Amino acid sequence: MLGEVPHCWTLDVLDNRVWCGCIGEKSRGTGRGERSPRKWLPMTTPSIFGNSRVARSATEVPGTSAVGMMGLHAAARAAAPGYVVLYRVGEFYEVLGQDAAIVSRTLGIQLTRRRQKGAADVPMCGIPASSTDVAVARLLAAGHRVAISEQPTEEGGERPLHRLTPGTSVDSAVLAADRSNNLTVALADGIAVAFAWMDLSTGEAGTCMASSDGCGPALARIDPAEVLVARWPDGSDGLAIALRGAAIRFSNLDRPEIDTNAALAVLEDAYGAASRTVLRGFSPPELGALASLLDYIRAIVGGLPEALTPPRRSPVGDTMEIDAPTLRGLEVLTSASGRVGALLSVLDRTVTPPGARLLARQLSAPLTNPGTIRRRLAMIRHLVDAPLLRSDCREGLSGMPDILRACGRLSLGKGFPTDLAAIRDGLKRSQTIATKFGKAVDLPVGLATAWRELDLSGQDGLSELANTLSRALIVVPPPKCKAGFVADGYDPQLDGCRAQGNAAQERIERLQDRYARDTGINSLKIKTNNVLGYHVEIPTSRAKALGSEFTLRQGLASSTRYSTSELDHLAEARETAVEGAARIEERVFRDLSTAVLSTRLALARVARAAAALDLVCGLAQAAAEGLWSEPELTEGVFLEIEGGRHPVAERLLEAQGRTFVDNDCRIGSAERLWLLTGPNMAGKSTFLRQVALIVLMAQVGSFVPAARAKIGVVDKMFSRVGAGDDLAAGRSTFMVEMLETSAILNQATERSLVILDEVGRGTSTHDGLSIAQACMEHLHDVVGCRTLFATHFHELADAAAGMPNAVCMMMEASPGRHDEMFAYKVKPGRSGRSYGLRVAALAGMPETVLTRAAELLAQHSGPTVDSTSDS
Ligand code: ADP
Ligand code: MG
Repeated sequence: MLGEVPHCWTLDVLDNRVWCGCIGEKSRGTGRGERSPRKWLPMTTPSIFGNSRVARSATEVPGTSAVGMMGLHAAARAAAPGYVVLYRVGEFYEVLGQDAAIVSRTLGIQLTRRRQKGAADVPMCGIPASSTDVAVARLLAAGHRVAISEQPTEEGGERPLHRLTPGTSVDSAVLAADRSNNLTVALADGIAVAFAWMDLSTGEAGTCMASSDGCGPALARIDPAEVLVARWPDGSDGLAIALRGAAIRFSNLDRPEIDTNAALAVLEDAYGAASRTVLRGFSPPELGALASLLDYIRAIVGGLPEALTPPRRSPVGDTMEIDAPTLRGLEVLTSASGRVGALLSVLDRTVTPPGARLLARQLSAPLTNPGTIRRRLAMIRHLVDAPLLRSDCREGLSGMPDILRACGRLSLGKGFPTDLAAIRDGLKRSQTIATKFGKAVDLPVGLATAWRELDLSGQDGLSELANTLSRALIVVPPPKCKAGFVADGYDPQLDGCRAQGNAAQERIERLQDRYARDTGINSLKIKTNNVLGYHVEIPTSRAKALGSEFTLRQGLASSTRYSTSELDHLAEARETAVEGAARIEERVFRDLSTAVLSTRLALARVARAAAALDLVCGLAQAAAEGLWSEPELTEGVFLEIEGGRHPVAERLLEAQGRTFVDNDCRIGSAERLWLLTGPNMAGKSTFLRQVALIVLMAQVGSFVPAARAKIGVVDKMFSRVGAGDDLAAGRSTFMVEMLETSAILNQATERSLVILDEVGRGTSTHDGLSIAQACMEHLHDVVGCRTLFATHFHELADAAAGMPNAVCMMMEASPGRHDEMFAYKVKPGRSGRSYGLRVAALAGMPETVLTRAAELLAQHSGPTVDSTSDS
C-alpha cells in the first residue's frame, strides 16, 4: 500500500492519530474539508519534520510510544556499539542522539529535535525508507558502520537488527571499483602478529605473519578497509604504531575469543572437508586470525559466503617491505592532491577494474625474487614490442565485466540477475580473447599461462555454464530486480504463466472497450493502483450511466471508481499468473546462482588471468607511452641508473612545456651513501623520490623512466621526509618524524634502500643538524644500506667527507639569470650556498625587505659571505 505514496504526501494529525493524506485531492461529502483518501499508517513517524504537534501524537501510535520507542532504540544502540543506528518507524528511519549529528553532517540533511515528555529534547534526523540504500551507501563510504533496526515482522515480535560495515560491504555503490576492500583481523602471538584478510566483494583472502616491526609493511600490503584486532601484542607497540601511521580504521574485535577446536570447526565450515589440505602450511596464529575473521563475518553478514576460494598465504620475504609512510611520502597510490600526481595515475593504463585493483596491490607489494620479476618483465617486453597484439588485447579486455565481484555478491545472497549476466558476458569475452590470442607464437611463459587460464572459459564446466546463462537470460536484465530477466523459451512453465498473464491483460483491455461501448462513456478507463487493484474509473458526472454490476469503491472530487465481478475475476487470473511467474523466476535465479557458485573456483581463475593480462598490457602501454626502458634486476647490492627521470614530475613539467632534466645515480657497497646538498628548490627531493620510484617500479616488474637501470633487489624501502615538507598530510610534528626515522634505523638491513629528505628540519638548527648527522653515521657505519640523504644543512658535508663509503653530491645551481638559477643536475661536490635570498627575490618579495635581509645575513655570517648566500 505504501509503495504508491507520492512525494507530495504530507502528514496530518486528526483524532489523535497519525494520518497520511495527499494534498490537492479533496474528498467529497465529509464536510470537514479533510484530505483524502485517508490511510491509517501505523508507526509512521511524522516527527521527522520536527513538528511537535505531530511528535506528541506519535506517542499514540501503537509501538511508537515515546518511552517504548526510546527504550527499544536504546536496546538497538546497546546491541551495536560503535554503529550509527537507523531505527525504522513506518516509512522512515529515525536517527537519534549523536548518530543524528553524524548522519546529518555526512548526508547533508537537516538536524531536528525529538521532543520527549519530561526529558530533554533529543537531536534527530530522518531518512525516508525509499532512499535508505543511497543513504547507507554514503554512510559506509564515509567509513561509518550502520545498524538498521527494522520493524518486527509480527506484532510484539523482536526487531531484527542488520549490521553493515565498510569492510563487509559488497554494494557497488559503496566500493571503489578499482580498489580492494579487505576486511582484516590482527591476532597477536607474543609480539608477532598474524593477519588474515578477506575481500568479501571478490572472495579473495589471505594471511601473513609479521614481526613487530613488520606490521607497517604488512598492513600497507594488505591495504585494509578496516582492521579488527582480536588480540593486541603483549609488550610491543608495533601494531599500534603501524595502524596509526597508516591512518587505518581499526577497532577491537568484539567477539568472544575462539579456541583451537572452535577455530578448526569454523574453518571446516567455511572450506568444507578440504579445509585441511587447503590450509596446510598455515601457522596456528594465522589459522586463528582467519577463523576469527570468518566468525566475525558470519555474525555480521548472517552467514558465510558460499563457495569460498581458498586463502593464500604470503610468506615473509616474498615481497619488498614498504610501509604506509613510505608509500605516502613517495606518492605511490595517492598524492597530496588525491590520485592525480600519484605514481599509480601515471602507471595505470589498465582497462578493467580487476586489473586496476591488481596494479594497486602490486604497487604496495613489489617483488623481491629477481627470477619472478624477470618473468614479468619478459611479458611486458613482448607486449611493448608487439603494439598490435597489445592493442587487440586491451580492446578485448575493455568493458569486461567484473566476474569476481559478481561472484562475491552472489555468494552472499546479495546478487541480482545483472550479476549472472556479468558472468555470462565475462566468459564470452574471455573466450574471444583466448581463441584470438591463443594462436600467437613464441609467447613468454607468463603470457602463455594467462591465456591458458583464460581458455578455461571455453572448457567443460564453464562453457556449459556460459551456454546455460545465454539461454536463460535476456540480453540486458533490469537492474536490482529479480523479475522479467528470464528469456522466453527457457522455462516452459514460465512461458505458460506469462502467456496466461498476457491473455488476462488483453481481456481486461477488451473489457474496457466493451464497458465504454455499453455505457456510452468514452472516457471510461480501467486502471490499477496498489490500494484498489483493478477498477473502472469514470467522471463523477456520468455515474448515472452505469448499471447495477458496477459497485462503488471510491469517490473523488472529479472521478469515481468502481469494481465489477468480471473485472475482479480477470484481475485475479492475471495476478495468479504474475505471481506464478515470479515464483518460477525466483527459482531460476536460485538455480543459476547455484550453478555459478559451483564453478566459482574456475571462474576466479579466469577472472584472475584476465586481471593479470590487463595488468601487464597496461604496464606495457605505460612503458610505450613514457618511452621507458627495461631494468636489469640482480642479487647484488647496488643501484645504477643512467638518465633517470621522475615519472610524475616529468609529465607535469611536460604539460607546462618544460623539460625534465635527467640524472644518474650510482651507489653500491663501496659508495653506498650519497649526501646530497643544494639550495632550496634545486630538485633534491625530486631526485631522491625518482630513484626510489624507479626501484619500486622495477620490482613491480614495470619498465622504468631511465635510459638504463641496473638494480640489485631491495628487501625493504624507506622514505622519510623531514617535518615541514609533510605539512599537507597534517603530520608535521617533529615527534612523528623522529618515530619514523628511528623505525628506519632499527629496521633497515644491508639490502634496504633508505631515502632521508631533510631529516632534522623540524627542530632548532643545532638539534636538527646533530640528529641528522648521527642518523647518517648510523646508516653508514652500522646498517650499511644504500642511502640517499638530502639536506640543506651543508655542514653535513664536512661529516660525510670523513666517511669511507659516503659520497658528497650536490645539485648544480647556475649563477645565471633568475629563471635559469637551477640546472637540476646532480654532480659530485658540496654546495656551500643556499641561495635563500634569490629564491625570495624570485618569489617577488619587496626590494626593501630583500636589502634588509641581505644586511642581516652579512651581520650573522661575517664579512666574507656572498650576499646571495643565506648560510
Ligand atoms: P628541493 O627539494 O631541492 O627543494 P624539489 O625537488 O622540491 O627541490 O624541486 C623543486 C622544483 O624544481 C620542482 O617542483 C620542479 O618543478 C623542479 N625540478 C626538480 N627537479 C627537476 C628536474 N630534474 N628537471 C626539471 N625541473 C625540476
Ligand atoms: Mg625538498
